[in-house]
Amino acid sequence: MNHRARKRFGQNFLVDGNVIDRIVASIAPRPGERIVEIGPGREAITGPLIDAGADLAVVEIDRDLAASLRQRRPKLEVVCEDALSVDFSALSSGRRWRLVGNLPYNISTPLLFHVLGQHEPPADMHFMLQKEVVDRMTAAPGGGDYGRLSLACQNLAVVTPLFQVGPEAFDPRPKVDSAVVRLEPRANPLVPAAHQAAFDRLVLKAFSMRRKTLRNSLKGLVDDDGFQAAGVDPGARPETISLDAFARLAANGLL
Ligand code: SAM
Repeated sequence: MNHRARKRFGQNFLVDGNVIDRIVASIAPRPGERIVEIGPGREAITGPLIDAGADLAVVEIDRDLAASLRQRRPKLEVVCEDALSVDFSALSSGRRWRLVGNLPYNISTPLLFHVLGQHEPPADMHFMLQKEVVDRMTAAPGGGDYGRLSLACQNLAVVTPLFQVGPEAFDPRPKVDSAVVRLEPRANPLVPAAHQAAFDRLVLKAFSMRRKTLRNSLKGLVDDDGFQAAGVDPGARPETISLDAFARLAANGLL
């Protein structure tokens, strides 16, 4: 296919057959299943998904790529739009659906929250992302990767890192390592909707000063009684505090 990779659309096309096979095996598509793919590009994952009999729709921002897909695959549902503004619930038309994509790195985090915030979130998602982003999404308390992204993702979904992919699997090669991750949205987020705003404020404040103790960084939001009621040590640093403990702090009400 005669298409020059466009940097502004994060176009690094997968060319390693083994990696493509591993991604498709992780997705394990079943015939007739509704799957939406973001950024089909040159069909690296698209082709095998169609071959597996999936009921596929693709969202591609690049008009040239979308046009050649339509030409080669007249039966494929091709939406030529920015995935950040697509109403995915409409695309799934009320059916169970799954989402996959080798995502452009520049839009990965906003896209994640756009999708997780949909009225009818997908049953699961498989994404290739920058490895560093996957490390932050899946981090447990206690290390430097743990922070707002870990808490926000793990509140909404079960997040499982699958495998790492080196730059040589792509053309052109990206400057960073990549990784494939699975997200399974929870039926109910761990933080109840009524406490979500308080939780967001706490996490934002705590991690904007991650070297400080919670007593210092949350001054004005939580007092000693609040820490005691939540069973959280005010002398601890935010990166040691579990999602559950942040949820308890939020549930105890802010000052
Ligand atoms: N799936 C292909 C593969 O694995 O080789 C292409 C992956 S490439 C990293 C990202 C793809 O997403 C490109 O086809 C690009 O044009 C498309 N893309 C970039 N930004 C997009 C957006 N905002 N909405 C939809 N597609 C986008």
